[in-house]
Amino acid sequence: MDTTKIIDGKQIAADFRKKLAEEIQQSGISPGLAVILVGDDPASLIYAKNKQKAAQEVGVNVEVHHLPALSSERMVLDLIDELNERTDIHGILLQLPVPMHLNPQNLIECIMPIKDVDGLHPVNVGKMTSGLPAMIPCTPMGCLYLIKQVVPSLVGKQAVVVGRSALVGRPLAHLLLQEDCTVTQAHSKTKNLPEICRQADILVAAVGVPHLIGADSIKKGAVVIDVGINRQENGKITGDVDFEAVKDLVSYITPVPGGVGPMTIAMLLFNTLKAAKNQKEKGVNLAPYKE
Ligand code: NDP
Repeated sequence: MDTTKIIDGKQIAADFRKKLAEEIQQSGISPGLAVILVGDDPASLIYAKNKQKAAQEVGVNVEVHHLPALSSERMVLDLIDELNERTDIHGILLQLPVPMHLNPQNLIECIMPIKDVDGLHPVNVGKMTSGLPAMIPCTPMGCLYLIKQVVPSLVGKQAVVVGRSALVGRPLAHLLLQEDCTVTQAHSKTKNLPEICRQADILVAAVGVPHLIGADSIKKGAVVIDVGINRQENGKITGDVDFEAVKDLVSYITPVPGGVGPMTIAMLLFNTLKAAKNQKEKGVNLAPYKE
């Protein structure tokens, strides 16, 4: 395959983190991030570790709070309260999914919006969808960043986002709308999915169904962003897009792994710095910046 078609998320994220590290060093700010992990979901453990490693590399102070799987809602809320109060912690991320007995929405709503680096608090969701400054979810922001590497102006482009989760699909559709794309949001009840996908100049798959998007879903020359992370029986990870089947049709495509995943983490670190700056400017939690 023509490798120039690949949007190398790994490299782009590395370049992004380098710039971020320089900015953090020059700013004199010490951004602090707390990751809350409840239980022992193997994928979540890996994600939390990856976040920790990337954060340390760019100069974000990171703490992983690993709570037992059977933690009560009160226990998690107490930790969130404590982190909300702390002046050296600017960003709080609740690693999803949480165990079944916990309601993630209740927990997210207790994170101070200004520290909500995942952009999932209703205040941030409302601001973002209203086009106001907000904390924006990391994966959609990472997707948009990757798309803009190859299509700097999205004005008038036809975008199709498959998936409408609060974490990825829905906020990404809003971001693309704000870029003046014409956006179609598809989901599990969508009829004639391949036909709809074939209209897309920009096609994003954020579904969680391996190889749902095949050659019959691609308009020639489309830019394809594959958000899906699906673990196969052989232990390998694959995306929502059948890469081999579509690679000759697309103009650009993200691989899985090495596409959206690394950008998500880079954007989390960006949001942590943004939160630290916001808290400095707004006079909230000034202590880390005082002499
Ligand atoms: P969710 O399960 O929350 O949402 C999946 C969405 O896909 C839903 O809107 C669902 O529709 C839709 N859907 C399911 N089946 C179909 C189908 N057959 N046809 C069309 N639409 C369908 O998942 P997430 O949004 O959280 O994640 C999606 C994928 O992205 C997963 O593989 C996840 O692991 C991955 N992911 C990757 C990240 C990264 O950094 N690379 C970060 C976050 C997620 P409906 O609403 O009707 O149920």
